[in-house]
Amino acid sequence: MDLKGGCLCKAVRFSGSVEPAFQVKCHCTDCRKSGGSHAAIIGVPDGAVAFTGEAREFSSIAESGREVTRAFCPVCGSGIYSQTAAAAGLVFVRASVLDDPDQFTPQMSVWTSSAAAWDFVTPGVPSFSESPA
Ligand SMILES: [Zn+2]
Ligand SMILES: [Zn+2]
Repeated sequence: MDLKGGCLCKAVRFSGSVEPAFQVKCHCTDCRKSGGSHAAIIGVPDGAVAFTGEAREFSSIAESGREVTRAFCPVCGSGIYSQTAAAAGLVFVRASVLDDPDQFTPQMSVWTSSAAAWDFVTPGVPSFSESPA
């Protein structure tokens, strides 16, 4: 899959030819607050996608108790990617900033217990109230 995308102002871009490790919608509170009603994320091997421009990172302790680092454009604020020690070796690109958002195919939904009542939890794929083990 040829993943291409970038932030709203185009200061941060990425591209890479890569097979996604997995594709997830995360409805946790932190993902919601970081932009959007949830985070649609594509896990790819670290280094498989090349970034241009300078993203800023923010780290916090997730509901799971693990540290998650989220990167965003310091100019326009678009969320670009995230990383967590729980999935070492992977970078999670945000599907919201793909040039073609339909490259994202959700395989599961996680943290649906924190989903906003008005948000859409994709039917027909496995759904977990918290994070699966
Ligand atoms: Zn930007
Ligand atoms: Zn989340």
